[in-house]
Amino acid sequence: MMIKPGDTIGILGGGQLARMLAVAAARLGLRSHIYAPEAESPAFHVAAAHTVADYGDEAALARFADSVAVVTYEFENVPARTAALLSERRPVRPGAAVLAASQDRLVEKEFINSLGIATAPYAQVDDAGVLARAVAVVGRPCILKARRFGYDGKGQALVREGSDLAGVFRSLRGAPAILEGFVTFDCEISVVAARGEDGEFRAFDVCENLHEHHILTTTTVPSRLPVETAREAIAIAKRIADALLYVGVITVEMFVTRSETENGPVHTIKVNEIAPRVHNSGHWTIDGAVTSQFEQHVRAICGWPLGSTRRHGRIEMRNLIGAEVEQWPGLLREEGACLHLYGKTAVRTGRKMGHVTRILPDETA
Ligand code: AMP
Repeated sequence: MMIKPGDTIGILGGGQLARMLAVAAARLGLRSHIYAPEAESPAFHVAAAHTVADYGDEAALARFADSVAVVTYEFENVPARTAALLSERRPVRPGAAVLAASQDRLVEKEFINSLGIATAPYAQVDDAGVLARAVAVVGRPCILKARRFGYDGKGQALVREGSDLAGVFRSLRGAPAILEGFVTFDCEISVVAARGEDGEFRAFDVCENLHEHHILTTTTVPSRLPVETAREAIAIAKRIADALLYVGVITVEMFVTRSETENGPVHTIKVNEIAPRVHNSGHWTIDGAVTSQFEQHVRAICGWPLGSTRRHGRIEMRNLIGAEVEQWPGLLREEGACLHLYGKTAVRTGRKMGHVTRILPDETA
């Protein structure tokens, strides 16, 4: 089916990612229909239609699918049954196999390793007894993570020298878990890229990301990595996207470690996780690239040609988290600051309320 301007795309989830997708879709003459369980969803403000219903409401899902040309999502925890029901009626992009590979940290790591791509060492942990053995294998420090439904560091516990393992296991409330070796990284990066229906692949320049309390605070582009390491990061993202026959924007988060050798520093990449969606570290592309990650995703899921990923300058993107959003009047006055506010009414600690992108002249270009 050829999707045309005037058609409607369906988006599961009503947060800021869905909101920015809907804005990008509108610019290309498309309408958006947002499906979310929360009555107060930021994406509703900018969409032609919305449905407030549970992801398990089969009648509402059927009506939603029938009203759109293609379905996509802003979060990876779409229940498998929801994706299957929607797929019977409309294309779901990226597809159900992608969700299966990215929802469970254990399945995800096995998949990445099966492609010959490195991750942190890990072990499966289903009970407190296994945890002690897993810690012995993986080594300390390490992190126990719930296999499913974790984000921004939720459902994680650090295991240090002397940590009480039974207590660490209890903190995850019995959720099936994975133990990961702690990576002493030099920096964290992400590759935001798109793969089209025809297999065309285009990546934005590698993003260097800073996190505080597990939440992304700043992205800078270009990263400080040597050109060949940045190229390798993009090649890794391409291998993952190709293996998944991916359609849409994919984000691959990675750790880079640096070791000194006789021949100079050596950079090694380990994949942390795959986000089958547009990503916070790609927000800079709205103001800082010819095509934004949101437009790129819309183009890909509609079967349209991908756009140019060319960057306009040196970029710094900062999230406005919690009360930081109150800086908005000053940011409006700042020359060259591109302000984005997500329309969320309640300010809560750790909640992403907006972001600001600054574009500086690129001396390296
Ligand atoms: P995650 O929820 O897995 O994306 O983790 C959130 C953040 O916690 C990452 O961006 C890292 O800053 C940190 N982190 C997670 N896993 C590890 C690890 N194995 N080693 C070092 N830092 C980690």
